[in-house]
Amino acid sequence: MDLHSRVPSGPIEKLWDQARFEMKLINPANKRKHTIIVVGSGLAGASAAATLGELGYNVKCFCFQDSPRRAHSIAAQGGINAAKNYHGDGDSVFRLFYDTVKGGDFRSREANVYRLAQISVNIIDQCVAQGVPFAREYGGMLANRSFGGAQVSRTFYARGQTGQQLLLGAYQALERQVDTGRVRMFPRTEMLDLVVIDGQARGIVTRNLITGQIESHAADAVVLGTGGYGNVYYLSTNARGSNCTAIWRAYKRGAAFGNPCYTQIHPTCIPVSGHYQSKLTLMSESLRNDGRIWVPLTAGDKRPPNQIPENERDYYLERRYPSFGNLVPRDVASRNAKAVCDQGRGVGETGLGVYLDFSDAMKQLGVEVIRERYGNLFEMYERITDENPYEVPMRIYPAMHYTMGGLWVDYYLMSTVQGLFVIGEANFSDHGANRLGASALMQGLSDGYFILPYTVGDYIAKANLEKIDAAHPEFTRAEAEVSELTKRLLSVKGTQTVDAFHRQLGKIMWDDCGMTRSAQVLKSAIGQIRDLREHYWKDVKVAGSADDLNQSLEKAGRVADFFELAELICVDALHRNESCGAHFREEYQTREGEAQRNDDEFSYAAAWEYRGLDRAPALHKEHLAFEYVHPSARSYK
Ligand SMILES: Cc1cc2nc3c(=O)[nH]c(=O)nc-3n(C[C@H](O)[C@H](O)[C@H](O)COP(=O)(O)OP(=O)(O)OC[C@H]3O[C@@H](n4cnc5c(N)ncnc54)[C@H](O)[C@@H]3O)c2cc1C
Repeated sequence: MDLHSRVPSGPIEKLWDQARFEMKLINPANKRKHTIIVVGSGLAGASAAATLGELGYNVKCFCFQDSPRRAHSIAAQGGINAAKNYHGDGDSVFRLFYDTVKGGDFRSREANVYRLAQISVNIIDQCVAQGVPFAREYGGMLANRSFGGAQVSRTFYARGQTGQQLLLGAYQALERQVDTGRVRMFPRTEMLDLVVIDGQARGIVTRNLITGQIESHAADAVVLGTGGYGNVYYLSTNARGSNCTAIWRAYKRGAAFGNPCYTQIHPTCIPVSGHYQSKLTLMSESLRNDGRIWVPLTAGDKRPPNQIPENERDYYLERRYPSFGNLVPRDVASRNAKAVCDQGRGVGETGLGVYLDFSDAMKQLGVEVIRERYGNLFEMYERITDENPYEVPMRIYPAMHYTMGGLWVDYYLMSTVQGLFVIGEANFSDHGANRLGASALMQGLSDGYFILPYTVGDYIAKANLEKIDAAHPEFTRAEAEVSELTKRLLSVKGTQTVDAFHRQLGKIMWDDCGMTRSAQVLKSAIGQIRDLREHYWKDVKVAGSADDLNQSLEKAGRVADFFELAELICVDALHRNESCGAHFREEYQTREGEAQRNDDEFSYAAAWEYRGLDRAPALHKEHLAFEYVHPSARSYK
C-alpha cells in the first residue's frame, strides 16, 4: 500500500485554488449519469449529499436513524469556528491555521489545515444564507465566543444548540434535493459492507433495519460521512447509536486506518454516577469562557463549595497556565483534572469531579447575561444532577468525546481505496493528535459543502469506470458474507447481552487506553480485549431474528467491530513511543507533566493496513513536514 497525500506544490495559501483549477470538470448534462453513494446524513454527509444533488449528480444517501435530523451532529452544543475576525481581536486565516496545527500537537497535515481555515469563512456565509440563527450582537453583527486553545473569539454559536441549527440548515438543503429527485434518501438503512471491484469502490451492501432485507447499491463513487468511534469506550458523550461499522468494514476492504489512538477526552462532562449508566453528558466547552475551574487546596476537604474560602481553593488551570487559564485545550484540561483528582482533591461523592464555578461571572455580568449565554446548558445540568448551577458550582469530569483518528484520506479526501471518500469525523484529516473545540463542525461542513463535491467530480472525470450494476458477482459475494455474519451472531445463543460485553470492553479501554497510557498496560489491554472478543463469540446472547426490526442484532454487529477496532487503537497507542496531544504515554512526559513529543521518530501519520484478524496490521507512515508552523514545545503557559 502506498500513501500519496497528493498535496499540490506551491505556496500554501494558493494550494486549494490551484488544485481546483487543475481538476477535471464534468459537463453539467453528464453529471446525472453518475451515481454517488453518501453514507451518513449528519453535518458532513447531509451537506455533501445536498451539494452533490445541487450539482446534478444522482445521489443515494443512507442513514440508520429514521431521519437525517437525528444524526449525532444534532448534539453539538458550543459552536463552530471561523476566521472572520468580527471582534477585531487579531484573528486571521493564518492564526486559525496556526492554532489548529499547534493544538493538534504537530501531528496534522499542514496543507489540509490551511485549507480548512480558508474555507471556514465561507461556511458561515453559507449557513447564514440558509437562515441558521447564529447569535448576534445588539447591533446585528454575528456574535462570537472563545474556545480552548485560542486567544481570540472566533466561535459562532446558536445558544447551546449550534449543531442542531446547522443540521437543520443542511437538512433543508438536502430535502430540497430529495424533492427535486436528485437525492434519494434511505433512512433506517445500515451499510454493512463496501464493495470494491478492480480496486475501485463501486457500492455498498445494506440492511434495512425495519424489514431486515439485505440489499446492494452500485455507484461510481462512495462517500462515508459516518461519524466517530468514541463509543468503543462504551461510556461517551456520543449518541448511543454512533458506531464504527462503516469505516471498519471499509478498512477490512483495503482502506487504511489513520491514527486510531488519537481519541479525545473532553474535560467538561457530568461525572459518572453509577455502573448502570449507558451515556455521559457533555457540558459545552463554551462554559469555560465564564466558568472558573477549581478544587479544594487540601486533599480530602469535603466541605460544600460555598464553605471553602477563596484562599483555600486552587484554580489550578489559571495557576499553571496563566496565558490561557481555563481556556487551555481539552487534552491539557483533562489531564490536569485527572491529576488533581488523583491527588485526592476531587469533589463530589466519587471524588472524580472538579468544580466549574460561575459565581464570579454572575457577579460581574449579572445572572441574566449568563442565562442568555448558557441557559439551556444550565437547565440540562440541573435536570440530570438535581443541582442548580446558578446556586452551586457545576461538577465536571473528563469523558470520552471525539475521535481524531479515522480512515486515512489524501488531500482530496480519498482513502487508499480508489473512489472511496471519507468526510467529517469519520476521516483522520485535520486535527492531528488533539482537536480544538468548535473545529469539528467546521471540518464536517468544510468537507461536505466545499471540498468533497469538487474532488469526487475530479475522480469520476478521470477514473476509468466500467459500467457495473448490483448483479455483479462481487455484490453477491458481499451480500452472502453479510448474511453469514448476521447468522453467526444469532446462532451463538449465549448468556450475556451485547451491552454487558460492550460495558466490559469500554472499561478496559477507559482504564488502559484512556487519558493516560503506558506500554505495560497497553500490552495487557490487548490480551484482555482478545480474550473478551473470543468470549463474545461464544457467549453473546442476541435474541430475535434477522427478518425484522432487531436492535439487539444491530448492536451485536457494531460491538463485534468495536472489539476489533479497540485492539487496533491499543496497537497504535503502543507503537507510538511518545506523547502528543491527547495520546499521553506515561513514559514520555516532561518534568512538569506535559506531553513529550518525539519529532525525530514520530512526525508521521500512522496508517494501518488490514491483513486479516490473525495477522498484525501493517504500518504505513505519511511523513509530516512543517514548513509554516515550526514544531515547538506546545505551551499554554
Ligand atoms: C455532545 C457533543 C457536543 C459537541 N459539540 C460540538 C461543538 O460545539 N462544536 C464542534 O465543532 N463539534 C462538536 N462536537 C463534535 C461534532 O458534533 C461531531 O464531530 C460532528 O457532528 C460529526 O458529524 P458527522 O457528520 O461527521 O457525523 P454524525 O453527525 O455522527 O453523523 C453520522 C451519520 O452517519 C450515519 N451512519 C453511521 N454509520 C452508518 C452505517 N453503517 N450505515 C448507514 N448510516 C450510518 C448516521 O446515521 C448519521 O447520519 C460535539 C460532539 C458531542 C458528542
